[in-house]
Amino acid sequence: MERVYNFAPGPSMLPVPALEKAAKEMLSYNNSGMSVMEMSHRSKVYMDIQKAAENLLRELMAVPENYKVLFLQGGASLQFAMVPMNLYKNGKADYMKTGQFATKAIEEGQRFIDVKVVASSEDKVFSYIPEVDRSMFTPDADYFHITTNNTIFGTRFTELPDTGNVPLVGDMSSNILSQVYDVNKFGLIYAGAQKNMGPAGLCVVIVREDLVREPMDKTPLMLQYRTHAKEDSLYNTPPSFSVYMAMNVFQWLKDQGGVAAIQKVNEAKAKILYDFLDESGLFKGTAQKKDRSIMNVTFVTGSKELDDEFVKSAAAAGFVTLAGHRSVGGMRASIYNAMPVEGIEKLVGFMKEFEAKKA
Ligand SMILES: *Cc1c(COP(=O)(O)O)cnc(C)c1O
Repeated sequence: MERVYNFAPGPSMLPVPALEKAAKEMLSYNNSGMSVMEMSHRSKVYMDIQKAAENLLRELMAVPENYKVLFLQGGASLQFAMVPMNLYKNGKADYMKTGQFATKAIEEGQRFIDVKVVASSEDKVFSYIPEVDRSMFTPDADYFHITTNNTIFGTRFTELPDTGNVPLVGDMSSNILSQVYDVNKFGLIYAGAQKNMGPAGLCVVIVREDLVREPMDKTPLMLQYRTHAKEDSLYNTPPSFSVYMAMNVFQWLKDQGGVAAIQKVNEAKAKILYDFLDESGLFKGTAQKKDRSIMNVTFVTGSKELDDEFVKSAAAAGFVTLAGHRSVGGMRASIYNAMPVEGIEKLVGFMKEFEAKKA
């Protein structure tokens, strides 16, 4: 069977060379006589994999020396709790409410600390990123939380808020490694792997060393950054096969020329789709132009029946998982690093045909 163009928001397409490498190494990794799934996480052969994954990620994102890279479990969602528990100092934090995952982070945060919602775009179905300035921020907040890319609504921060000495925390699940970020601007970055890095379940945390501190009272050991930082993410059995797959994806990205190179490709891919949406008489983008995501492109026809018909016929033509999130409907094309340019060009060709038939 041929592979389809999979526009799923996550888990999503992975680079074929990374999957092929895993297929080739499935029964015996590097002459070990076993699959990565079968080997001890304390063996040298596995520890070399984890070290290589970390080093590749450090290189790709230019992670400074004074930041720890942690490979954790529980997806991005567990970080909604781990961040407030571990960065706890004055017991308060600022959040920007720019989408559904931001809302979940806020709701979880409220269980542990005083949360101030500095700004929200809920009034317009999260179709934009609100303007903010320092006068709106809590000067002694433990941290300031943003979602750098809003997966469901198709928006992204094009500029990071200047939070001064308050550590900026970024949920980067849906756009990590898709564009160049200065890690120094963040106190902590977290991202679930299933969008741009590898299999679901694995979560990468990049945290400035001074923030790996004594957490809230009674924080379970497994939920403390310092536990995992001290043991190089080997406190307990790590999600070893997921870390191995992430290593393959990082290597692929490095072979593409790294993040700056893929950013250019990603911008070109998004432009093809947005240019078409802007001139189409049938399809219309739903996010405000200035804040459009280059990873998740959301659009509608204006008719639910037509949206459904489009999603169905696109799937039959090999463009799958184009339905919008169940909470908003419409369509969403998630075009992460692994989606080739031809996937977008062919999708736009299909949309043009669909539009012509409906005219
Ligand atoms: C997918 C996603 C999450 C949730 O990730 P899980 O691994 O399912 O917990 C959180 N935040 C953002 C921005 C996401 O895109």
